[in-house]
Amino acid sequence: MKVPMLDLVKEHAPYRAELQSAFDRVLDSGRFVLGPEVEAFEKEIAAWIGVPHAIGVSNGSDALLLALQAVGVGPGDEVICPTYTFFATAGAVARLGATPVFVDSAECCYNLRTDQVIAKIGPKTKAIIPVHLFGQCADMDPILEVAAKRGIPVIEDAAQALGAKDKGRQAGTMGTLGTFSFFPTKNLGALGEGGLVTTKDPALAEKIRKLRVHGAKQKYFHEMIGGNFRLHELQAAFLRVKLKHLDSALQKRRANAKRLIKELQDKWGAIFPVDSCICRGQKASGPERKPGTILLPFSCQSGEEDHTWNQFVIRVTGKGKRDALREKLASEGVQTEIYYPRAMHEQDCFSSTKEQFPVAEILCQETLALPFCGFIPRSADQLRP
Ligand SMILES: *Cc1c(COP(=O)(O)O)cnc(C)c1O
Repeated sequence: MKVPMLDLVKEHAPYRAELQSAFDRVLDSGRFVLGPEVEAFEKEIAAWIGVPHAIGVSNGSDALLLALQAVGVGPGDEVICPTYTFFATAGAVARLGATPVFVDSAECCYNLRTDQVIAKIGPKTKAIIPVHLFGQCADMDPILEVAAKRGIPVIEDAAQALGAKDKGRQAGTMGTLGTFSFFPTKNLGALGEGGLVTTKDPALAEKIRKLRVHGAKQKYFHEMIGGNFRLHELQAAFLRVKLKHLDSALQKRRANAKRLIKELQDKWGAIFPVDSCICRGQKASGPERKPGTILLPFSCQSGEEDHTWNQFVIRVTGKGKRDALREKLASEGVQTEIYYPRAMHEQDCFSSTKEQFPVAEILCQETLALPFCGFIPRSADQLRP
């Protein structure tokens, strides 16, 4: 591959010495699970996000599971979430015996449609999970408003959105709980697995700390049934190194995104899919599109600093056009990825629902993530269709 999606070896090269000394520190400490590195990391990332409680856990999927369990989601309950997301969002709901209730995506930022969230709230709704997709926050105000009125917990799936903002508020600080992932492909990636739960509520923080270690505050005395959801010292030590460089990494991603958008407009005739945000269910308005038109990632958020560009996702309109572009790029050594080829309501394990989600279904056919990273500017020439 001439142009890989992501080059973690290159990305880590500037921090090599720091990462190696973090490794030495942990090796010399003899502590490997939930020790001083995890504690220090929790304090540092809580301060970076601006949230009182941050609990380091095994991964982003378990973070969702813990958050749902902490607010009491169980068999018979319903949890509203988007159908166009990574599997873990809906998977965590189902792992607790509850039912994911899906909503469609907006044609602007591809985040969930908030009017459909409101319409689907019923007596069994036990939680709502807005996903901040590709590094951009979902439109939180309508969700927070209805959730407060009805007493429904909101869990922000911020796995792709560490540092993203909605009207000045950080992802993971707006809902009842926030969940993050440190999978290596995320903007703050461990050298392995890791995750985080955030909350302003001290009682929920305490409960998650217990659930993380089999429901026991005092070892061998179990108040509830949890699991092993612990974060490793080594990963926490590596994450502390990378957290120090996160602000500048995000700045580079933003600068890269801006430049790539401009180049795609100039060289590929790419256009934005809509003129304005339609997350609340307004009708789409935007320029006319011929098949094969490249649609740029649209920012519903007004601030330039709001998007964290965990993925750079374009859309290629018309049947088969996305796949044709993907093949052409692959033949030239340019790697691309599809987030996501199949929506949750169409998965074998969830397909009892007969409902249709037209926008999500078309996004699965038309979206394409381009190689994108924070350290070398990609030129549109390298990606020419
Ligand atoms: C990556 C991701 C997760 C899961 O995180 P892991 O650390 O891989 O378990 C959950 N939700 C979304 C939206 C993600 O992108």
